[in-house]
Amino acid sequence: FSYPLPVNEPVLNYAPGSPEKLRQKKVLEELKKKEADIPMYIGGRAVRTGIRIAINPPHERAHVLGYFHQGDKKHVQQAIDAALKAKASWEAMSWENRAAIFLKAADLIATKYRPYLNGTTMLGQSKNIYQAEIDSACEIIDFLRFNVHFLSEIYKQQPISAPGIHNRLEWRPLEGFVLAITPFNFTAIGGNLPTSAAMCGNTVVWKPANTQVYSAQMFMKILMEAGLPDGVINLIYVDGPTLGEVCFQHRDFAGVHFTGSTGVFNQIWTTVGANINKYRTYPRIVGETGGKDFVLAHRSADPDVVATALARGAFEFQGQKCSAASRAYLPSNIADAVKRKLIAQIETMKMGSVEDFSNFINAVIDEKSYDKLKKYIDNAKKDRKAKILVGGNCDKRKGFFIEPTVIEVRDPKYVTMCEELFGPVLTIYTYDADQFEKALTLVDTTSDYALTGSIIAQDRAAVELAVNRLRNAAGNFYINDKPTGAVVGQQPFGGARASGTNDKAGSMLNLYRWLSARTIKETF
Ligand code: GLU
Repeated sequence: FSYPLPVNEPVLNYAPGSPEKLRQKKVLEELKKKEADIPMYIGGRAVRTGIRIAINPPHERAHVLGYFHQGDKKHVQQAIDAALKAKASWEAMSWENRAAIFLKAADLIATKYRPYLNGTTMLGQSKNIYQAEIDSACEIIDFLRFNVHFLSEIYKQQPISAPGIHNRLEWRPLEGFVLAITPFNFTAIGGNLPTSAAMCGNTVVWKPANTQVYSAQMFMKILMEAGLPDGVINLIYVDGPTLGEVCFQHRDFAGVHFTGSTGVFNQIWTTVGANINKYRTYPRIVGETGGKDFVLAHRSADPDVVATALARGAFEFQGQKCSAASRAYLPSNIADAVKRKLIAQIETMKMGSVEDFSNFINAVIDEKSYDKLKKYIDNAKKDRKAKILVGGNCDKRKGFFIEPTVIEVRDPKYVTMCEELFGPVLTIYTYDADQFEKALTLVDTTSDYALTGSIIAQDRAAVELAVNRLRNAAGNFYINDKPTGAVVGQQPFGGARASGTNDKAGSMLNLYRWLSARTIKETF
């Protein structure tokens, strides 16, 4: 059964007076008026524990969008039991019927729930409509449709047979349950991590970040409406250590699909390693972690292109993308022009609530993140080695607002050139325009991460040199563009080194990890 290659879901533009804008505004009002009471979903049942945690928009701390019910160890165990119970019938279901559920979920989002998934993302994660649209509408729809296509291509792959011999590959799911752990920054990652494993016939325990619960539960309800059988995906809200304690000790733990910090991912590897004798099978450990993503401009670069790549790459969604541009290397011949143009662009960025669609910058996700970012900025203000070029003000009275900030440094190894900040802070360093080779070495050796990066140049030889020399510095490499905004089916996403296992999201490479093939040989 073949599913043709889909086209990417068109991005709506929410222009003033457009029907999608009016509808989105209405839904935002509706969501704000109601106080949601959000259960976990275990084995298809709504589970309310009575331990209720408030959900507040990061840009409007005083408002309560609702409460989610927090679980404990016993709920993790229940979720695993439900996943294991659902496994046999799910894996036996025909691929066409399994695929139909995910395709229907994609259609439901495209035609009915788009403003709800966008609305919960906007309010719960402080993401403006344009950033929400490419995430909680288009990217999530694309993940569902493209993964169905990719998986149907994988299922077609068969070995050759020979006279008297019939060979085949059975594309089995893994044996056991898969754990999906998802971050706040992309609703689409919350959409992809549990479903890509489930599509392959696995059953899943899904734990989103607390700061993602509001949109995650909306997506879960859409999957249920699309016909996902009970127990195939079990959505629970527990803290990381509680989750780990139960899942990583379990004999049937078959794999983890993770996006989050390098520190937590390293802990997962360590814990899994320490428990390796307990498992029935070697678990798959798939993760996308941090980034310290670069923009390297060559002396031949167009300063406008550099400024725009930096403004958008560093500050869209307040820089809270693993892919965000956070260190820039400018050649001395155009550095002043780039800085001037970048500052001019930043000065046009309005900051505030997501309800006003003209705000480019919204709040950072929570107080912990705000405090961490403010500390880096305050240190830079005091440090003679750094200079704040623009921004630098922070205010958490109403919401966690941090101005888009550019720090200029003379030391290319200054702390904000090396560490992942995960916020609207860009650090720039100017290199001698005649020393491009040195700049390449600097880019490659400054950070342990290797997620995304850009080369901006008009000179083809410089592009080629950068492509070759930075071969291992980024899993997603961009030429004359910002390093963010990978599109499913167009730029498979992921990086190696400290940025993860590089099992490209939105590609066959990722789906292979949730399959465990059996070779069957029959002799006639
Ligand atoms: N795929 C996103 C992008 O290309 C980034 C995902 C992430 O932040 O983990 O911008």
